[in-house]
Amino acid sequence: MFNGMLIEKDDQGYRTTVKSIDESVLPEGDVTVKVLYSTLNYKDALAITGKAPVVRTFPMVPGIDLVGIVEHSDSDKFVVGDAVLLNGFGVGESHCGGLATKARLKSEWLIPLPRAFSPQQAMAIGTAGYTAMLCVMALEKNGVTPDKGEILVTGANGGVGSFAIAILAKLGYHVVASTGRVDQSEYLKKLGAKDIIDRATLSEAGRPLAKERWAGAVDSVGSHTLANVCASTKYGGTVAACGLAQGMDFPASVAPFILRCVTLAGVDSVMRSLADRTEAWKRLGEVLDPAVFDDIVHEVSLTEAVDVASDLLAGKVRGRVVVDVN
Ligand code: NDP
Repeated sequence: MFNGMLIEKDDQGYRTTVKSIDESVLPEGDVTVKVLYSTLNYKDALAITGKAPVVRTFPMVPGIDLVGIVEHSDSDKFVVGDAVLLNGFGVGESHCGGLATKARLKSEWLIPLPRAFSPQQAMAIGTAGYTAMLCVMALEKNGVTPDKGEILVTGANGGVGSFAIAILAKLGYHVVASTGRVDQSEYLKKLGAKDIIDRATLSEAGRPLAKERWAGAVDSVGSHTLANVCASTKYGGTVAACGLAQGMDFPASVAPFILRCVTLAGVDSVMRSLADRTEAWKRLGEVLDPAVFDDIVHEVSLTEAVDVASDLLAGKVRGRVVVDVN
């Protein structure tokens, strides 16, 4: 038996509880990990609350991120005692995840815990921070350099947004943060945002083309916001789109793409190649200032995490939540 968060769905409905779980619940995998820390991402909050059909099979241990120590390995890639990191690959959705003291995983999903980070720091970054770095890499790949002009980050107080601001600012970009919580401006400026705009200026239906402002953008919001961001991106600019906090729809026109050569770069973290993951985590280790964690992170227990999931979906959580599963 091990302790963890379990999502069940049956005649009694959809429910998430912290309880003692039989090991038989764990799926097949060649590496068993003693989990040290997990996190709460937007997707975890959807799974825990049941607000969207994220979980594919029941019962399910949620948690798309984990850091832990290998306690059994049938793989020649990892030995007992190795510290490992996992982000995504459907873990916490269709394969039991990190919000528990034990996980059984496929070795090809794991990467060694980067030397630059402690287990807590790696989980503070988690999928949100690693996705923020993938978005920044997408901007770089498309030639968006700091001299090109302002970079917009939407969903600024969220996990992806907070890390995107910190990374871009450290790389020398002029970052503008879009938020519904302008009262958090001090936090956003401490992370490195130069200017703050109210997200309400982007969240309603807009014109196909607006005044050119952004050299690039990292968008974790989708819907009208993403459409308006594309419409106000400068000629040749790139928008990295990774999220749907406002909505999954994209009510836009092709005008920015065919008249201003704007690139819309889709960013997925879940099925990303090992090479891209390793590169993103290496870059995170080079770029992130350790002091940033004090500002972005707060830690909760497994039991507290169940309630915090609702707060996260309600937009009440700032930055990142690390879960101490033990
Ligand atoms: P968070 O909940 O931490 O942050 C989301 C932020 O979006 C909020 O803090 C809020 O910022 C803003 N927001 C919330 N609701 C709205 C709304 N209705 N309209 C406009 N803005 C809103 O989530 P994460 O940062 O963890 O994830 C953000 C998004 O990115 C999610 O949709 C998630 O699924 C997606 N994602 C995708 C990944 C991928 O692989 N493609 C990986 C990781 C995340 P503020 O208060 O500052 O306005």
